[in-house]
Amino acid sequence: MSRKHSGSRFKSILSWIPAFAGMTMMLLTLHGCGGRPAIMVNQPAGISLKEICDRYHVLWQWDSVSQVVTLEYKGNQSKALVGSSTVLVGKQQIVLSAPLRRERSMIFVPEDFEAQVLAPFGVPIGGLGAVESSSRVHTIVIDAGHGGKDRGTIVGSGTDEKEIVLDVAKRLEVLLENAGIKVVMTRDTDNFISLPQRTVIASRSGADLFISIHVNSNKDHSVNGLLVYYLGAVARRDVMETQRRSNERTFLRSLNAVDSATVLAILTDMMDTLKSGHSQKLAKLIVRSARETEGIKVRGDGVRLCHFFVVRNTLMPAVLVETGFLSNHQEHSKLVMPTYRQKLAQAVARGILDYANE
Ligand SMILES: [Zn+2]
Repeated sequence: MSRKHSGSRFKSILSWIPAFAGMTMMLLTLHGCGGRPAIMVNQPAGISLKEICDRYHVLWQWDSVSQVVTLEYKGNQSKALVGSSTVLVGKQQIVLSAPLRRERSMIFVPEDFEAQVLAPFGVPIGGLGAVESSSRVHTIVIDAGHGGKDRGTIVGSGTDEKEIVLDVAKRLEVLLENAGIKVVMTRDTDNFISLPQRTVIASRSGADLFISIHVNSNKDHSVNGLLVYYLGAVARRDVMETQRRSNERTFLRSLNAVDSATVLAILTDMMDTLKSGHSQKLAKLIVRSARETEGIKVRGDGVRLCHFFVVRNTLMPAVLVETGFLSNHQEHSKLVMPTYRQKLAQAVARGILDYANE
């Protein structure tokens, strides 16, 4: 089934380049920071803000009187204060692991600056490249598990699963959108969405893939590692499930197809064949990408068959990524770190892009 893919994002990036070059020139003139910074004998900890902004084409300006650093990227603004670890990204306040520091005329930011400030700001950290125009993936539904009254896995008084997965999902959203894929989120705030509702959102979106993000837990605290779940063969009882039938009718209407039992049966059969094979392929590519990402541990062969509601009641290829075990002490301490969540989002995005461009 082919869907029209708009190249408007790519065009808008192209049209933005001359404007960006002009603004950079203006800022360089203002700052007079033409040459590369000299190598210092006692290089202070942290990364040079200039270097990091140059790398990602982020415009930045520092007011030496107020000590305010203003970042600009594609019309989005972010403000930070030298000496403070609090950064305003849009309307959201983010606290970094260390304050911004100034050494002579150079400003240094802590290591989590990329993941904490630039990624949610819309900067394509990790340089994934773009989805090819011939790609089979144009729209993806990202489903951050749990939310609202449903906190998901909770370990001690620490962070809830619902918070971790929403953050990973939002980071994944930025990465995929920057790669030219349209993203539909089942939730982008801390609200409760029922499982059937999530599959309804997926069916109405006309998406090509469904990715659910979760965090695992186990009684045995030594169990750790990322796992990607998918539905194997679609069983008869799954096909007959009320929610699935309803989603199929929604999909049929979106195609302007005749709402007849025969058409539905043919369609269902086509979708099921497509779904099981492609879900497995996608799961394997996400696992491969995670395995290639330094710091991410994959559990065993990384893929598992499952029968989860959102996976069996969506019609498009679907996977559920259990990003790690909150019950495992080591993985818990990684999952609460924004830098690690960015790594996870990048690994999942890389896997999706490999699938899309295959
Ligand atoms: Zn979960």
